[in-house]
Amino acid sequence: GSVLQHRPAAAHDKLLGGLLADGLDEGSCHSRYQSAMYRRNAVKEPSPHLVSKLRRHEALQRRCGPGTVAYSNAVETLRSGKSGGGGIGPPECRYLVSISYRGLGNRMLATASAFLYALLTERVLLVDPSNEMDELFCEPFPGMTWLLPPGFPLTNYTSFSVDTAESYGNMVKNNVITTGAGDAPSPHSQSPAFAYIHLDHDYTFHDKFFFCDEDQRVLRNILWLVMRTDSYIVPGLFLLTGFHEELDLLFPERVTVFHHLARYLFHPTNHVWGLVTRYYDAYLATAQQRVGIQVRVFGSREPSKVLEQITACTRGENLLPDVITAGDPVAATARHRRKSKAVLVTSLTSWYYEQLKSMYWEHATATGEALSVHQPSHEEYQHFGSRSHDAKACAEIYLLSLSDVLVTSGWSTFGYVAQGLAGLTPWVMHKPANDSDVPNPPCRRDMSMEPCFLTPPYNNCRNKRSAHSGKVVPHVQNCHDVPWGLKLV
Ligand code: GDP
Repeated sequence: GSVLQHRPAAAHDKLLGGLLADGLDEGSCHSRYQSAMYRRNAVKEPSPHLVSKLRRHEALQRRCGPGTVAYSNAVETLRSGKSGGGGIGPPECRYLVSISYRGLGNRMLATASAFLYALLTERVLLVDPSNEMDELFCEPFPGMTWLLPPGFPLTNYTSFSVDTAESYGNMVKNNVITTGAGDAPSPHSQSPAFAYIHLDHDYTFHDKFFFCDEDQRVLRNILWLVMRTDSYIVPGLFLLTGFHEELDLLFPERVTVFHHLARYLFHPTNHVWGLVTRYYDAYLATAQQRVGIQVRVFGSREPSKVLEQITACTRGENLLPDVITAGDPVAATARHRRKSKAVLVTSLTSWYYEQLKSMYWEHATATGEALSVHQPSHEEYQHFGSRSHDAKACAEIYLLSLSDVLVTSGWSTFGYVAQGLAGLTPWVMHKPANDSDVPNPPCRRDMSMEPCFLTPPYNNCRNKRSAHSGKVVPHVQNCHDVPWGLKLV
């Protein structure tokens, strides 16, 4: 009941302003239409152009997806190894297979990036079903699966790497593909049936040509693309002049790109949604404000220093009240007592949560407000390929995203996804240069809610322009938390 009392008028729109298609079976995926009830943050409206583009894309997925004649033909072309561009003009259905790997945050950023690339290039998106993507998330497209079905002819695609001969970078390097810089590729040049797009952190000089306009013109003629990335490559797509006009129309409010993509794509399955809603309703719903604190510790930092950073940040930025350490607490007035805050801590360990909880139990708050501290799980370390572990991680990302205020840890894709889903610009706790320090300031308000592209291309394209520091495109800037990273602002 409490959830319903608090929901703002805007959140009544269960289709998120037209972002989501209507008419899907609600029982098979409760989160799709219920999530609006749980979000109190001001809802960001998708542009009419994005809404119509999504409906057209859904139609493309239905027309060309697994089980259609078009799909069988495309698979046959791939199996035969023949060129994809045999007919007159480009084939109607072209495909992008997105390989999912690494932690859940990485996988979600990569999938959203692949989806935007598919939208921009009018390709059917098919995601690699390994790594529980099918168990964590509902199908996003009405009436057609987004999972790559069994029987895909490139049987070893999940082990494609920087050395794969069919990677776009290697094909350019070995002159299997020529770009004819500046011009459209000759209509007589043969395109391979597929190219592997390697955008992992070890990607090479030639792989980085993916982020160049002339190479995008070549890629357009290739029937199948298989992409591997663990990053949010979207800021890189904004560097491509060929996409500027469309991106401006799709996202007039540039910092909401991931917010819209994530709310469109990622609907937790009923099992995960149960974890989210049971926890929210039991521990968070009745508080007047929810403060999410995501603690992700990289390197070998002293836990006490991390705790010091958390408290210095949350008190310094007035996100959590001070405690009274000496003297008697002022009797809380009735007005103050009615104010309540719920703090949601997520972390692999329970220590930070226990410390915060004890601190606010053993000492009164200077403001008299009641404060409760919660942590859903403490998994101790990152488990790979464990279903229940991934379901908890997914639920916690969602729970964080239902906060009213977010404090995150820099460098963490887990936090990036939570802030993007929430539509909140977080306060970010940076990693100090020296593990034994507490950084000053302990945290900083981020430039935008967008995730950071952690491994962007340097020395971009053949004209050797640098893609960095806002010199190419003013709204693509270096990130605060990762100075060489790029983000939309
Ligand atoms: P990143 O490593 O912080 O960029 O985030 P990823 O999500 O890509 O990988 C970290 C993985 O560790 C997550 O997917 C979880 O499996 C696990 N993990 C890290 N922090 C937490 C947490 O606070 N809660 C839970 N349940 N799992 C976490």
